Amino acid sequence: MHISIAGAGIAGLASAIAVSQNGHSVTVFEQAARLETVGAGLQLGPNAIRVLEGLGVWNTLEAECCSPARIRICDAISGRQLSELELGDSFTRRFGSPYRVAHRADLIEALAQTASRNTDITIVNDRRITGLQPGEPTGLKTLSGEIHLSDLVIAADGIRSELRTHIAPDSKPRLSGETLYRGLAPAGDLPGALDRDAVYLWLAPGAHVVHYLVSGGRQLNIVASIEQPANQTGWNNIAGRDDVLGALPGVTSALRDLLSTPASWLAWAGADLEPFTEWSRDNCVLVGDAAHASLPYLAQGAAMALEDAACLAACLGDGSGKLTPALARYEKLRQSRTARIVEESRRNAGIYHMRGPKAQARNMALRLLPGSLQLQRLAWIYSPPEDQ
Ligand SMILES: Cc1cc2nc3c(=O)[nH]c(=O)nc-3n(C[C@H](O)[C@H](O)[C@H](O)COP(=O)(O)OP(=O)(O)OC[C@H]3O[C@@H](n4cnc5c(N)ncnc54)[C@H](O)[C@@H]3O)c2cc1C
Repeated sequence: MHISIAGAGIAGLASAIAVSQNGHSVTVFEQAARLETVGAGLQLGPNAIRVLEGLGVWNTLEAECCSPARIRICDAISGRQLSELELGDSFTRRFGSPYRVAHRADLIEALAQTASRNTDITIVNDRRITGLQPGEPTGLKTLSGEIHLSDLVIAADGIRSELRTHIAPDSKPRLSGETLYRGLAPAGDLPGALDRDAVYLWLAPGAHVVHYLVSGGRQLNIVASIEQPANQTGWNNIAGRDDVLGALPGVTSALRDLLSTPASWLAWAGADLEPFTEWSRDNCVLVGDAAHASLPYLAQGAAMALEDAACLAACLGDGSGKLTPALARYEKLRQSRTARIVEESRRNAGIYHMRGPKAQARNMALRLLPGSLQLQRLAWIYSPPEDQ
């Protein structure tokens, strides 16, 4: 088959590599003039790493990833550690693959390098997709008026997908009422009181902060999620240090020092998609955030995009079967899992941002429950499919 893909983000590039492994030729259309090597940290659980290995991307990416030894969950006001979840060898043995963190730019770069080694994949930049022309073959329309024909269109054009308006017109991003700020700083700026080998999760009333090292340990990635209505549509809205510090009064000094390190911050509006079931129409199928964008509070956005790519490629096979049942199989395999990610990510926002007596009860539960049992709650995400 010849397959067109809209969007060269994580879902689009991974889908291109995955379907080309089955002998299909692929053209990827990306609106940006060059590959968007922006963004900040992404957490790659064992389920994401298994897919990256299968795509032949892991060898290229591994050196740029960091290997956190633990997750430290702390109270942002008192500074007290509430819980510690081990991510070392016992974690890897338990879930069959390790836990890593990476800069989004490094993941995009590794996917693009792998794709560029495959002569069946062409990436065309500076092409904004504007719509679909149903038919066989199916036409993909660009802003400049071109129409590209293919047997299948994969819509990997993110949470504000243009092509989703053709497939599921009622599905619109729903704002969560949070602003997410991301900042990067040199790794050496990490305050001495904090652990270089940990992913930190700080819980505050109406907010939380996550940070860890990325880019082979050279950079410190920080994301602060703050209950603060926002309606920006892009990922790169400029914000200042005072926006972040001003919204987090009374936090412990180590966290305040940490939040003072980035020279600048970028903000985006927290948003996800209410789960829906129309994922394909007229030989066009949704993957990644276009199908099931979630809030990043289970750190599974990139992993779900990668899983979609592998699953879709497996369902399509070499293309000798009929397309409609293959797409139906993909949807059946992916929809309940991704809907659960969307819902549990939302629930985590409520738990992370608790106030007053509820926050006290949460903190007590975190202190009492062993880290290994807390990890057990994530086994349905991390374990190999046969163990889930
Ligand atoms: C610039 C950027 C920065 C991000 N930064 C972070 C971050 O710091 N932390 C985080 O948790 N998540 C971030 N994300 C989101 C994260 O990458 C996704 O949630 C997740 O990885 C799923 O990826 P995706 O490929 O489905 O969607 P996306 O990563 O959103 O990729 C969609 C791609 O499609 C392209 N596109 C969109 N519309 C069109 C169109 N009409 N025609 C052609 N191309 C189109 C976009 O330019 C983009 O390259 C970012 C996304 C982007 C695009």
